[in-house]
Formats: sequence, structure tokens, C-alpha cells
Amino acid sequence: MTTPPVLEANVSLRSYNTFGIDAKARLFARFASAEELRALLSLPEVQQAEKLILGGGSNLLFTKDFDGVVLKNEIRELEVIGHDDASNTSLVRAGAGESWHGLVEYALSQNLSGIENLSLIPGTVGAAPLQNIGAYGAELQDTFDHLEAVEISTGLVRTFTRVECGFGYRESVFKGPLKNQYIVTAVVLRLHRQHQLNVSYGAIRTTLEEMGLKGDPTPSHISEAVMRIRRNKLPDPAEIGNAGSFFKNPELSQAKYDALKAQYPDLPGYAVPGGVKVPAAWLIEQSGWKGFRRGAHGVHDRQALVLVNHGGAQGADIQLLAQEIIASVREKYGVELHPEVNIM
Ligand SMILES: Cc1cc2nc3c(=O)[nH]c(=O)nc-3n(C[C@H](O)[C@H](O)[C@H](O)COP(=O)(O)OP(=O)(O)OC[C@H]3O[C@@H](n4cnc5c(N)ncnc54)[C@H](O)[C@@H]3O)c2cc1C
Repeated sequence: MTTPPVLEANVSLRSYNTFGIDAKARLFARFASAEELRALLSLPEVQQAEKLILGGGSNLLFTKDFDGVVLKNEIRELEVIGHDDASNTSLVRAGAGESWHGLVEYALSQNLSGIENLSLIPGTVGAAPLQNIGAYGAELQDTFDHLEAVEISTGLVRTFTRVECGFGYRESVFKGPLKNQYIVTAVVLRLHRQHQLNVSYGAIRTTLEEMGLKGDPTPSHISEAVMRIRRNKLPDPAEIGNAGSFFKNPELSQAKYDALKAQYPDLPGYAVPGGVKVPAAWLIEQSGWKGFRRGAHGVHDRQALVLVNHGGAQGADIQLLAQEIIASVREKYGVELHPEVNIM
């Protein structure tokens, strides 16, 4: 049943972002279906206001109050909607407001593989295509079939295929040419019934060994290994405010990489089409920022890529710290870092 739209005024966003920043939304509303979303979009107050679609708030940094309407996605649905015997795959449809890890668990419960390497990534299903979430040798685009989205200006529903989404490294058309134009309402993945497991990432293999696994791992084993690695490596936002990796790993030309490598022989890097990707965490750590703290904010002491709110920090202070880090890495290495987090 569709409930009439309710707009709340002056709502604290503190519990809606994993940085735990206490910004306020001038207007705030939830929607649990595409119909409720369309009803909201037809309200004059909503039409006139700047809009922010909110999932789990795990990839956002609020630097000030949001002088518009925050639309919180709560569309729930998890369903296997079809099978293809030729490719031995099944299509799984998920409402955009489902938690991403909940979808991973659902796939495992259906004995379907393909997203186990993406276990425990915070946030919602609907935000996953925005930056083509990725971890441990896998990306959303590997299993993505299509998504449904509502066009903000018309309220019309449109389907986007994988090609139309224009996925790249932490990129999609929804962060580029179609930014702020569509609201994702459902995502459909094509998952494997005959498992094709990805253990290309060294830490997964080591952890599987530590788990005492002999023989072939199952998708659930991979998921368990990934969760162990993540829990060891990344701070839990429930304990310390953060949004995961704050910066993307920069991609350098081969020539630039070779020149830097001659100067800094320890510089890590791995080949990607058109160049070499360098871990931003290494550049930040070598520039002396790991564990840096100023008042209530800083850089995590075990993971230099993660900026943290120790409690009560202002988003603008974290943004300033990010700018200082970018400037110091630029000065030392001549490499430009770009935030992965959406700064508001
Ligand atoms: C501890 C930690 C670890 C993380 N690890 C990883 C990782 O390994 N790999 C990775 O890729 N990311 C990682 N992230 C980042 C984050 O989890 C992902 O970017 C996630 O997809 C964000 O989902 P969300 O629902 O929280 O999005 P939000 O933060 O709510 O929103 C992010 C952006 O997407 C937009 N958006 C959200 N939902 C929709 C929608 N339905 N339609 C249109 N636009 C929408 C928002 O407006 C905003 O611009 C990590 C974050 C944390 C805190």
C-alpha cells in the first residue's frame, strides 16, 4: 500500500551518515516504493528544492547543513526472478533500499555466486551502481544485468543496461553526465549457479588457509574470508566515524610511474589498461599522515586511506584535512589524489 508522502523539517542527519556528522536537512522524507517516490517528486516543495538521495550514508561527507530535501530510500525486495539454463545463471532483483550485504547473504542462501567478494561493503543496493562498488578483485559490473531508475524531472521509470551505466573504476554515468538526474529504485544481477570463484586476491587465499580450509572453497567460505579481512583492516563506523576509503587509487601513465619508481624504489603499483594504479594509502602514509590527529578528526592509525571522526568533528574540518593531504601528496610525488567520498 502506498502511504501519502510525509515531509519532515529540520532533521538531524547524524544517524544517517557513517561519518556521524551532525548536519541538518531542511526537509526530509522516506519512500518505500517507486510510487511513493513519484508522489514525493510531484510535491511543489520537493520540485523546487535541491534533492539528495540517501542510502546508508556510507559514502557521504556533509560539510554544512543541506538546504534542500533529503529523500531516504527504503525500497525493500529480494527475489530470484529467472533462470537461464544455457549460461547456468539466475537473475536476482533487489530493491534499492535493501542493504548491500543483505543482498550478498541472500545470494549465498540461494547458493548463487558472483558477489561474495563484495561481502560487508556498507550501504544500500541502490547506491552500489553509482560508484560501481568494488573490493578484493571484484566489482559490481561483473554481475550487473540492469537497473531501474526514476527520472527526477519527469517521474518516468527507465531501465539502464550495463553498457548504458558506463561503469568505470568507482565511476558510472550517474556520477558523470547523468548526475542528480535519476534515482535508482531496483538493481538486477546475473549470478552463477555453477560457481566461478575469484581468489585472485592474495589475502583471500592466505585467509582461507588460516581458516584451515582444505579442498575447494564455496562462495560462503570466500564471503567469510573477505569478512575476516575487512574486520581486521577497516574501522567499524559503529565505533569510529568514517566512510571507508576517502580517496581513489590514482592511475599513472607508465612513464610517470617509471620516473617515480626510479626515485622511490618501494613504490607499489599494478598494471591497469593504459597505465599503472598506485595505492593512495602508500602515498598518504609516506607523506606522514597515517595516525595524524587534530582535535576530533584525523587519519586512521592502521589505514591511511580512511579519514575519521573521533567524535564531534565538523565535516568542513575533515574536508580541509583531505585538501591538505591532497596538497602534500601533490608536492612530494606530483600525483593528484581524488576523493571517492561524495562531499556535500
Ligand atoms: C567502512 C567502509 C568500508 C567501505 N568499503 C568499500 C569498498 O570496499 N568498496 C566500495 O566500493 N565502497 C566502499 N565503501 C563506500 C560505500 O560503502 C559505498 O560507496 C556504498 O555503495 C555507499 O552506499 P550508501 O547507500 O551508503 O550510499 P550513500 O552514502 O547514502 O550515497 C552515496 C551517493 O550515492 C547517491 N545515491 C544513494 N542511493 C541512490 C539511489 N538509490 N539512486 C541514486 N543515487 C543514490 C547519493 O546521493 C550519494 O551521492 C565503504 C564505506 C565504509 C564506511
